[in-house]
Amino acid sequence: MRSDPIGPVPVLYLAGWGRSGSTLAESLLDRVPGLVGVGEIKFLWERGVLQNRRCSCGTPLRSCGFWGLVFEEAFGGLPDEETARELDAASRRFRTRHLPGLLLRPDSPPDAERLRWYYETLGRLYRAIATVSGARAIVDSSKFPSYLTALLQSPGLDVRVAHIVRDPRAVAYSWQRHRHDPDAPGDARMPRMHPGFTALYWSAWNLATERIARRSGLPYLRFRYEDLIADPGGTLRAITDLGGVPAAEVPVTDAGEVFVPRTHQVSGNPMRMHAGPVALRLDDEWTRGMPTRHRYLTGAVTVPLRHRYGYKDT
Ligand SMILES: [Zn+2]
Repeated sequence: MRSDPIGPVPVLYLAGWGRSGSTLAESLLDRVPGLVGVGEIKFLWERGVLQNRRCSCGTPLRSCGFWGLVFEEAFGGLPDEETARELDAASRRFRTRHLPGLLLRPDSPPDAERLRWYYETLGRLYRAIATVSGARAIVDSSKFPSYLTALLQSPGLDVRVAHIVRDPRAVAYSWQRHRHDPDAPGDARMPRMHPGFTALYWSAWNLATERIARRSGLPYLRFRYEDLIADPGGTLRAITDLGGVPAAEVPVTDAGEVFVPRTHQVSGNPMRMHAGPVALRLDDEWTRGMPTRHRYLTGAVTVPLRHRYGYKDT
């Protein structure tokens, strides 16, 4: 499978606010020949190298064969702890609280010169992923709009943005659920958030993603989680077009299931650990289980962006 990429490495950046279906989208995209889904690379240093959380293949990341080959190719071996800490600290500069400055000048983030070593490391990392996997384009589901600006500074990358959105009421409902995450530190639960905060984040995060992509002139496609479920073939074709790889059918069984193979994704929703059949079924539990006050609050806070994305008041 190994093949050295010629020219800039296409990176298909899966952007969007958490619990919008990006894990499912990435697992489906990983099925397309020419694409490899590697999870949330922004967290590779912290959760992967330093904390040694599990890769989606089930192996602790420092022992995963795929990542071992990538580190060997990029850096001659696994980065030592001090280097990983420096890389993690640099990654943390591309967080939400730095967004206002990055939104104003996405092409020239602060400390561009001081972080040159970091951008060059990222360039080497993504190239090594392409070489080891043999893929033509890398799917990175880091999702942070701010991290896009780091990729833009990294040499040898050709960044394209696939922006997934989902009805904010469904997203807010999901952030309220008690969910188990075997890899989460502490109480092994996924974090929860009040619907009012989810609604604010949903609006700001999605707007920032659009704005950074537009101001940087990046190839951009927005797609809805609901359309991915209703028409997986058509939606995936549009995304693979954006990634510059030939369209390929991802077979869906009569029962509406897709077979998802074992992947090597870093961080993200625990669903990434599941290999085998996955049901393409719309998760609309919020329409039955969401308290009315939460539904109205989320609906009101997310206007007008929600309307622009085609989510009605119901
Ligand atoms: Zn792995």
